[in-house]
Amino acid sequence: MKNERKVKWWYPLAAAILLAIIALAGQRKTVQTDAAAVPPVLVIDAGHGGADGGAVAADGTLESDINLDIALRLEALARFWGVESVMTREGKDIHYPADATSIAAKKVADQHARVGLVNNTPGAVLLSIHQNKYPAAAPHGIQVFFADAAGSDTLAEIAQSNLTALVCPNNRRVATAVDNRVYLMEKVTCPAVLVECGFLSNPDDLASLRSGTYRLKLAAVLLGSYLQYIRGTTT
Ligand SMILES: [Zn+2]
Repeated sequence: MKNERKVKWWYPLAAAILLAIIALAGQRKTVQTDAAAVPPVLVIDAGHGGADGGAVAADGTLESDINLDIALRLEALARFWGVESVMTREGKDIHYPADATSIAAKKVADQHARVGLVNNTPGAVLLSIHQNKYPAAAPHGIQVFFADAAGSDTLAEIAQSNLTALVCPNNRRVATAVDNRVYLMEKVTCPAVLVECGFLSNPDDLASLRSGTYRLKLAAVLLGSYLQYIRGTTT
């Protein structure tokens, strides 16, 4: 009980401090890039899809479906607010080249296509949406990973702070450099982050991720983080 009271007491204060930091950060340049002259375009990547369902929860929930739902909500919010965006996939199915017959070949062709789309989009800023899974049930929370490309770490710090404060206050995870084996993140040349929105292997995270309201909240905070990032780079 003591801990519960303590946590509740800190929530409003922490939220107020964070909102003040966000407001201040938005009023000054945080990053200088050559991309300032090119209007930014939000590239929304729903991880996996088609022949690749990604991670699978114990109840059969597919990572690819959750990723797509969050991505579609993010795209709808972006459209509503007049934020230019493109998606790497808009549905469950993926069109593969005729010569990609095995699942492995389909995955490779899909990753190449996504890299091509991102790197051929002037002003691209990539938000790749994924869900985590671990052999044990305990690990939970949201983690943002950043690519090597300039600006990625800044975008990741912004998104991680906002997601922790506004979606998952008990989250202790921090923004981290992405594993180089993630092909898309390794090959893109624009600011890029990969958001692991939760663990399909953790019952509480899974219950949250199965809620449309929770997925909308994730999408809203991701859009807000993107806007905060581009405001810092283009004003
Ligand atoms: Zn994934």
